[in-house]
Amino acid sequence: MSETRELILEAKHVTKRYPASGDRMLTACQDVSLKFYKGKTLGIVGESGCGKSTFMRMVVSLEQPDEGEILFHGRDISRLKGRELRQHRQKIQMVFQDPAEAFSPKMKVMDIICEPLLNFKRIRKSEKEAVARKYLEMVELPGDFALRYPHSMSGGQRQRVGIARALVLEPELIVYDEATSALDVSVQKTIVELLVKLQKEKDIAYGFICHDMALVQSLSHQVAVMYLGSIMEVLPGEKVASGCRHPYTKAMIDAVFDLRMDFDKPIKSIESEAPSPLDLPAGCPFQNRCPRCMEICRREKPALRQIEEDHQIACHLYGQQGEQR
Ligand code: SF4
Repeated sequence: MSETRELILEAKHVTKRYPASGDRMLTACQDVSLKFYKGKTLGIVGESGCGKSTFMRMVVSLEQPDEGEILFHGRDISRLKGRELRQHRQKIQMVFQDPAEAFSPKMKVMDIICEPLLNFKRIRKSEKEAVARKYLEMVELPGDFALRYPHSMSGGQRQRVGIARALVLEPELIVYDEATSALDVSVQKTIVELLVKLQKEKDIAYGFICHDMALVQSLSHQVAVMYLGSIMEVLPGEKVASGCRHPYTKAMIDAVFDLRMDFDKPIKSIESEAPSPLDLPAGCPFQNRCPRCMEICRREKPALRQIEEDHQIACHLYGQQGEQR
């Protein structure tokens, strides 16, 4: 990433636990520290249940962390309440996986797009249609769609409406929670191209949650790899395939399907199951699946360390300078 990047939001040592049956606690996020920069995309990738959505829900103030801070321009937003929280919500918006679930089927597209503006009294009702048309054109849909209902649109068109709705408040950060996962691959590509174009035009920071390694690295300036509630590795998107070092990231790269795959070579898959987040092991969370596991890995959790500019890793295999032990 360029040297001129401007920090917008920083999560510091964020932990989130939920009570479970039998007085147990489920650890969804453990000591997560990540940064979001203006005009840049931070992708978060990991298997289902790794805590990526929980982390982003804390970033958009839908959940409160149990420990740690979420600093927005240096101010902790994790404990905001009432009017302050409501005002802050204009700065960070979210696009959900399934727009059909996120919209009321009884609302016209112009009402869906303009609802946030009306909530904050930023436009009058008489301005709705004109504003909706402007944002529909921004997401490359015909302005006439303002008068439609969501059920008369395709999945890709509905997701564009979701993006328009997130844009109307002119937020500084938009979080996309698996926003392209439910779409056909060809539609996915056009939506990703739209997101890249809008980011360039508006200099917005993006948080992009995805379980598709190939997609997330193509879109993200930085990629954070998450496993069982912890960050395993953070590195530039362009270096994910060639420069990743963590055994879990490498295993995920090996699992990416390639059309030019040599089927004579054995397919490498990750052995065994991830442990339950109700019963996290002492030491490295990846220990029971890691082919490089050492004795220290079973007793000491590796800290996330900077090994190069823009490259952090949590693994006992690497020393302070990133040298392999
Ligand atoms: S810390 Fe140990 S178990 Fe964990 S990924 Fe590194 S080598 Fe494997």
